[in-house]
Amino acid sequence: MPDLQLLAAPQYFLTPDSLLLRVDPTISLDPALPPPFGQVQRAYDLSFRVGWLLDWLGVPQIPGVNPEDWLVGAIAPSYPATLLGDGLARVQPLLKVLGGRPCGYHQAIARNPLYEGVDLTDVRRSHGCSFCNWSMPDVSAPQASALDLAREQLQAAELPSRSPRSVGHYDLYDSRILAHIDAFAELVIELGLPPSMFYVHPRIDEVIGARKKLDRALQRFAATGHRLFLHRVGVENLSPAENARFNKAIDLERVETFLEQIDGYHRDFPETFFCHKTLGYILYTPWTTLDDLQISLDACDALAFQGSNEWLCSTLEMDEGAAITRLAEKQGGLLVDAYEDPAFLYMTSSEFNFRRWLRPWRFADARVALFFRMIVRLVALELRRPSGDAVFAQDELFAWSARLLEANDLLGVSRVRLARALCSALRRQEAPQEPKALLIQVLTQVAGRPLRAV
Ligand code: SF4
Repeated sequence: MPDLQLLAAPQYFLTPDSLLLRVDPTISLDPALPPPFGQVQRAYDLSFRVGWLLDWLGVPQIPGVNPEDWLVGAIAPSYPATLLGDGLARVQPLLKVLGGRPCGYHQAIARNPLYEGVDLTDVRRSHGCSFCNWSMPDVSAPQASALDLAREQLQAAELPSRSPRSVGHYDLYDSRILAHIDAFAELVIELGLPPSMFYVHPRIDEVIGARKKLDRALQRFAATGHRLFLHRVGVENLSPAENARFNKAIDLERVETFLEQIDGYHRDFPETFFCHKTLGYILYTPWTTLDDLQISLDACDALAFQGSNEWLCSTLEMDEGAAITRLAEKQGGLLVDAYEDPAFLYMTSSEFNFRRWLRPWRFADARVALFFRMIVRLVALELRRPSGDAVFAQDELFAWSARLLEANDLLGVSRVRLARALCSALRRQEAPQEPKALLIQVLTQVAGRPLRAV
């Protein structure tokens, strides 16, 4: 019997990338994890093994096949599904090329001095980024070759003719492939695949490390009509203090090297290479200081953030099972029962992805809290997303800010410029001032003239 409460959770309806039904009531749940993680996690880990699937289907185990074997590598892949209607085909759904795991970053969080004395028992990830909630068990035996697994799956999906399920867009799940991307390009060409798009989601340092191989792969792809897309590349934060807390190990120098590298690819392979220029960024955590904000604002041109101001609204998603949540718990005073301001819900509402399991938190620095409160409203007034604005539907400060900007013809003023002015004004203050007075002061300075009152 499916867990109806889980299925009814809006995140499953609103992001139906995948849906896992817990059909076997004998699967014991992990009581340490809150819903929906507890329900999903156990079945998710097990569902990559042969034995689990056969039990789930209610059929006998296969003689000679170890139930503990991974499905990927043990069974022949097949893609018999058909996309129904034009709409689905237009979405161009990806086929995952399975193998390994999607992130190869394993820096131990316990070795980070900031986490000394923090209880990391049963955190979702004890290695990698401290905020990451991405559960990523191996989906194949660790010793199985990434290229062999890819060969088998691409052949099944594309040869002798393209499966109706495939639109030629492949998500390369296995993080090991990037380190062999030139060999992967040769494999694709050797197989004679029709022109396809391959998505990878690497870390910045992996792209830098694979530069020579990427150069070769892109030349081969360009000559044969294939394309490569780097996505979900995260910087997270350039302030050394925030970055260290994230256990991220990325700095501005490496970000600039990466951007220079992908700029070159965009220039040399315009039909072949694609990358989201806006990199993943978490501007706010409970510990954020005005100095941290200043570092990010100073670097935003280098980060190519000019195109979108969403990063000015991006808060840490404090997952129950994340190491950084344990850090906040240990420190005390940062986790709260409910967010103190609707601006905390702006991003998730804009994305229609209400993550109800997140732990609400508050800023330690009241001046940063005020900066956040103001700039999210100002960005929302620029983006005017109905779903995002809904969180401010009853908000008097939001409505007043809209009237003030409109009456003074300032709706179009650069939000980064406003953010810089807000940050500077707050840095001059010992204690935060009243929000409306602060906004009038900042807008007057930016406009260079007295404002019309509203
Ligand atoms: S945030 Fe990205 S790089 Fe960091 S651990 Fe998670 S998947 Fe890996």
